[in-house]
Amino acid sequence: LAKLLDVPNDHMLRKMANIGMDKLANNYLLTNEEAAEIALEYEVVPIIPENSGPELLPQPIPEDMSVHPYRPPVVTIMGHVDHGKTTLLDTLRNSTITASEAGGITQHIGAFSVELKDGHHITFLDTPGHAAFSAMRARGANATDIVVLVVAADDGVMPQTKEAIQHALDADVPIIVAVNKCDKPGVDPSRILEELLKYGIQTEEMGGDIQSVNISALKGTGVDELAENIATLAEVMDLRAEVDIPTHATVIESQVEKGRGNVASVLVKRGTLRVGDIIVAGTAWCKVRSMSDDSGNPVKSATPASAVRVMGWKEIPQAGDMVLQAASESQAKDVVANRIDKRKNRDKLQTIGAMNEQRRETNERESSERAEEKAYKKAVWEFHNGLRNTHPDPLPKKGAHSGEVAGGTTEEIQIQIVPVVIKGDVSGTVEAVAGALKQLPDKKIRVNVISTGVGPVTESDVTMAGSGSQGVVIAFNVKADKKTLNAAKREGVEVMPFRVIYRLLEDVEKLLTSRLEPIR
Ligand code: GDP
Repeated sequence: LAKLLDVPNDHMLRKMANIGMDKLANNYLLTNEEAAEIALEYEVVPIIPENSGPELLPQPIPEDMSVHPYRPPVVTIMGHVDHGKTTLLDTLRNSTITASEAGGITQHIGAFSVELKDGHHITFLDTPGHAAFSAMRARGANATDIVVLVVAADDGVMPQTKEAIQHALDADVPIIVAVNKCDKPGVDPSRILEELLKYGIQTEEMGGDIQSVNISALKGTGVDELAENIATLAEVMDLRAEVDIPTHATVIESQVEKGRGNVASVLVKRGTLRVGDIIVAGTAWCKVRSMSDDSGNPVKSATPASAVRVMGWKEIPQAGDMVLQAASESQAKDVVANRIDKRKNRDKLQTIGAMNEQRRETNERESSERAEEKAYKKAVWEFHNGLRNTHPDPLPKKGAHSGEVAGGTTEEIQIQIVPVVIKGDVSGTVEAVAGALKQLPDKKIRVNVISTGVGPVTESDVTMAGSGSQGVVIAFNVKADKKTLNAAKREGVEVMPFRVIYRLLEDVEKLLTSRLEPIR
């Protein structure tokens, strides 16, 4: 390792002692984590191979898809808040033949299927908004084939409209524009289409090839036409999937349900999911006990682009997780155990990385303090020896929270405590974040972790953070819904989303310093 890092052997041994390893000798056998920790000490970022241990992989995509059957398109509705996404979803859902046949009892399972008059099907993901879309994409689960961009005719292009366009372009997903609220008097849909030009959305009316439909989600006008346009686009896209391979799906929702246990909605991408199958998603596995569709009807199998609720999970999988079929229960268990192991290592590495970063900063700060002190002493010496006319200003006290302040007067300094609630996707990460926050250098202002937990940010987290003054909720790899964000705004609580621990420390520190000057 010393050779790899290009450092002398005994230097590395000293370094190892410094970071708390004992019984050191030249034949000391390093674990992966120890080697990684040492490498990080030398500011070399190690790459830990991910392909070790039992894993499941999706089947390779066949070269010739034309022999496989067509599948329905999967559509996500995006657009600015209040532009009518939910209303459109409701109208679409209520127009489905299946729902009315089942007595209209629709089940929210994260997606629903619409059957057109000509027999075509469309699957709509019904968690509107970009958060879900981005979360899926961030996990490499690009579940959407087509984005319907809803723009209210009485409002025009707004921030989230632009965001939606960006998401769709980034993901290379085609857009269909739905100009909504066309029932409102005095609105001019063509103005919207013109406005969209500025953002690279050139509709057919404007000489481009992006379809647009004027609709009223509320009255239902134009909604059939929209569905037909989606079906036409899907046909051009030639969407097909294998039905006879091990299942490959995506978790779109998951929760614990009374009497049912862990339940997850999955969207089948390839293969056919059947009752009795063994599937793995992230670090959760499941022997499919039963499944139901969006009308609440039990189903025995689910084909590509259909969404089903799956009962029988040992743990709750997370939205966005890739679902893959295992050959046996024991394979599923091995894969899960291996993934848990790997995650632990990753968490550990993140914490180690954050700690090292912190240590490096502390060292830098201390050496600059020493330099300042040296310069001060030199200036004092120069003053006393007549080389300098003025006595230098005394150095401020360092690191103190209370007590003497530069100049000799004694005063109490209030330490401001910022209440912090930490939410994360897995408990390991939450602990790592809490641990890392404790490493923050002492300032006049400090964080006090008042609560930690796994799962999305909830209103009660916000309330807790807001109970003191200017609280902060740290959302590590988890989301907060609109209601929670509104509550946060009301309570003056900052919800800070993070994905990487380095950024987290940096940003939290920035936030603290922006609130109050550090004492030094
Ligand atoms: P979302 O935030 O994008 O999901 O928007 P909603 O579906 O909740 O709609 C916001 C508001 O606009 C609600 O009051 C709806 O009733 C109203 N709305 C939605 N679609 C239409 C429409 O086509 N015409 C009119 N006049 N109002 C609509």
